[in-house]
Order: sequence, then structure tokens, then C-alpha cells
Amino acid sequence: MSSKYDYDLFTIGAGSGGVRASRMAARYGAKVAVAEERYYGGTCVNVGCVPKKLFSYASHFHEEFRDAAGFGWTVGDSTFDWGTLIANKNNEIERLNGIYERMLGNAGVEIIDGRATIVDPHTVSIQGRTISAERILVATGGWPWMPDNIPGIEHAISSNEAFYLEKFPERVLVAGGGYIAVEFAGIFNGLGAQTTQVYRSTPFLRGFDHDLREGLAEEMRKKGVDLHFNTRVHDIEKRGEEYHVTINDGAQVTVDTVMFATGRRPMSANMGLEEVGVKLDPIGSVVVDDNFQTSVSSIYALGDVTNRLNLTPVALAEGMALAKSLFNDEPTQPDYTNVATAVFSQPNLATVGLTEEHARVVYDEVDIYRETFRALKHTLSGSSEQTLMKLVVEPTTDRVLGVHMMGPDAGEVIQGFAVALKAGATKAVFDSTVGIHPTAAEEFVTMREKVQS
Ligand code: NDP
Repeated sequence: MSSKYDYDLFTIGAGSGGVRASRMAARYGAKVAVAEERYYGGTCVNVGCVPKKLFSYASHFHEEFRDAAGFGWTVGDSTFDWGTLIANKNNEIERLNGIYERMLGNAGVEIIDGRATIVDPHTVSIQGRTISAERILVATGGWPWMPDNIPGIEHAISSNEAFYLEKFPERVLVAGGGYIAVEFAGIFNGLGAQTTQVYRSTPFLRGFDHDLREGLAEEMRKKGVDLHFNTRVHDIEKRGEEYHVTINDGAQVTVDTVMFATGRRPMSANMGLEEVGVKLDPIGSVVVDDNFQTSVSSIYALGDVTNRLNLTPVALAEGMALAKSLFNDEPTQPDYTNVATAVFSQPNLATVGLTEEHARVVYDEVDIYRETFRALKHTLSGSSEQTLMKLVVEPTTDRVLGVHMMGPDAGEVIQGFAVALKAGATKAVFDSTVGIHPTAAEEFVTMREKVQS
């Protein structure tokens, strides 16, 4: 497109958002390079969504084996081999790394391995090379963060290391109450570790609907996770090969691994951003406008480094919108309303739209429809696991504001209802939809009695 610069777009970071923006930009005819210092595919492919979901599958089997008995199966002695899971997971990630690299190459994007720093609004430096670009895109993602004021915190691992532990921890303590802490507590517990989770407030998963939060806490306790709410880790002491953890509620636990999942921070340090005038917020998030433009007009940022809605599909949508806007003469902004999300906890949670609490703040009147039941499968399996479904409705317009679920494959179910919410479905539309029988999902179209107004 331009000849004044080496590239039309220079992207820093080959994660979900950076790869999507670069590929699309190249497809629209831009000359694009992407720099990556670590791994292709970013957090999601390497130390996030993908390996986490594989671990989550692994951790469900022990319940499946137990549930099988009620259906007449005799399952022999089962043992779990962590080494096999890690090796197979690593192979799959390597395969995906290759796919990402090839996708970029096939799109005509030049890949440069190494750490890029920004020299001026149109120049980056990488591997001793100085490269100019009409526009620079910062898509460097985030990195686990843990508090530094806890004695012994240096012994704690983050989710990054949890994906590569050499030995499976028989006893583990997970600190935090967000997506990662809840998912990993379920994974460790499901794989057979004695699992303790410590969260500073109650219940965990702040921001999700309270019925899901409370329901999940109850189910996790039933499955054996030792939940400590309204408290914090006081200190971690290494004693030989194990760790002695004191919790502020007075409990003391001895574990093989301490994992902190207390949030992630944008990766924006030491890359020249502030030096060239790019504004960062106090925790390092790159501040952008609705078009991903930073305070320096030729520098853009998207995805987790902007710390807004830190989800892979959001970064993909942002990457697409940026490429269309800049290189296809098609100004586009992603729609951040009604973004569905799932927590791969045990059981799974998924949600789209407003929580009951949020809806009550925004609307004068809110109707609540809720069902809690034991899924058909468990009538024979003997499991007491509960499934919970909830609709939040605005009575004057009849619009469904929120759809929430706790239960097997909640993410698969809620993805479909997300389309309905985006289309503005009313409760009457839900009611006129014929269910699929027997499924759990049909409850969403057969809930007739409001439980609260
Ligand atoms: P979150 O921000 O979701 O959760 C961080 C947790 O740590 C919160 O419970 C928070 O408590 C707690 N915390 C923060 N600071 C401290 C502290 N100083 N001491 C004790 N506890 C503390 O971060 P995660 O690391 O779980 O995940 C990062 C992001 O990655 C998520 O927000 C999500 O966007 C994304 N993600 C998405 C997944 C999915 O889609 N399934 C899976 C994994 C991650 P409090 O609530 O009180 O602030």
C-alpha cells in the first residue's frame, strides 16, 4: 500500500488478536510483519484456553467412570498418568503453533522471531534491525500477576507453570477466585489431588450471577474441594519438598504445590511505549479509543494488553475490526454487548447478558425464572450434582436480559442462547420455542413460573 515505510502494519505479538489483525490486513493487501518473542498463538493456545480445556476433559473422567456403574458398567481399576497428559497436550500445542505460523505465512505476513521495542511512532527495533511501519499494532497480551507482600510467595507457581509441572501434585492449594483459580481447583480435584482453594471474598467469581456463584461453590464442596472464603494466604513456608501454608482464617495446610491465580496484568513494560508517548493506565494497560488508537496516532493496541474484556473471541473480533477499518475502508467496531462467556469449572458455568444484580440496578422491575434439578443422567448414575438455569427478564418489554446456566456443557448451550439475546428475543419468543427432549437446555424454553419479581 505505502512505499514510504518498510511495512504498512507492524504487529507486536502473535497471539489471538495480533494474528487475526495481521492476517486480515495482509488479505486486504497490506504489507504486514509480525514479531513474536515467545510462542505462536499466544496465551490461549499455549498456556490458556486450549491446554486448560484439555486438562478439564481429563479431570472429568473419574466422575464418568464412577457414573458408569449405575448404567451397568464395571470399570476396572483406573489410574491417572500426568506424564501422558502433559506429553499429549504438548504435542497438540506444537501442532497448533505450526498451524498459526503457517496461517501467517500463507497470508503473506512476514514473521520475525524476537522481542520488538518501539523506537519512535513509526519505527521498531528487533534483533538489531530497525524497521519502519506506517502503523504499529501492540498485541502483547497479559501475564500472570501475584501479590508481592506474602512471605514465601516466591514458592508459588502461576497457571503458566501449572501447565508444565513435572510431577502431579497430590495436594494443592489454589489462591484466587476468578476464572483461572476456579477452573484449576476443579482440574486438580478431578485429577485426584487433595485441593484447597482460598479466596478473599465470598463467594468466588465476582461479576457472575449470584445463583451461579453460590451453586458452584456448593457443588465444588460436594466434589471435595476445600473452599476457604473471606480469607487470604498469610504465608508459605517451604519444608523440604512440601509447602506449609498458613491461611488467615487459622487453617494450616501442607501441600506439594501452591498456585496463585490472582489476576493477569498487561504486558506493556520495557517496550518503549511510554517513551514514545503512549498512555498507559496505572497497571500498565494500553489506553485506546473505540478504534484501538492509542495516544500516539500511528500506534494501535488490542486484546488483553488493553485489559478490557480479556477473552480470546473478543481479541479476534477486535483484530478483525481493526483490519477492516484500516485496510478495507470499512470502519468497524466490535459489539461488546451480550458477550457470552463460560467457566470450565466442575460443573461448567456459562452466561450471557445481565446478571440479576446488574439488571436490578439498571431496570425498575425484573422477573426471575429459575430451575434447579438433577439431570436425567444422574437418576441412574446416583450423582447428586445439580443443574441450574436462570432467566432474567424485563417485564415491560418482555426482553430476556440474561441467560445463566450451571451444568454439563453449559458453554455449548449458552452459545446458542447468545444469538437469541443478540437478536433481542423476548420471553414470549423463548416460550414459543419448542424444546428438544430430553435435554437440560429445553428448560430454558419451558420455564413458565417466575420465582421472583
Ligand atoms: P480474574 O481477574 O478473573 O480473577 C482474579 C482473582 O484474584 C479474583 O478472584 C480476585 O479477587 C483475586 N485477587 C486479585 N488480587 C488479589 C490479591 N492481592 N489477593 C488475593 N486475591 C486477589 O483473573 P484470572 O487470573 O482468573 O483470569 C484472568 C482473565 O483471563 C479473566 O478475567 C478472563 O478474562 C480470562 N480467562 C478467561 C477464561 C475463560 O473464558 N474460560 C479462563 C481463564 C481466564 P476479587 O474478585 O475480589 O477481585
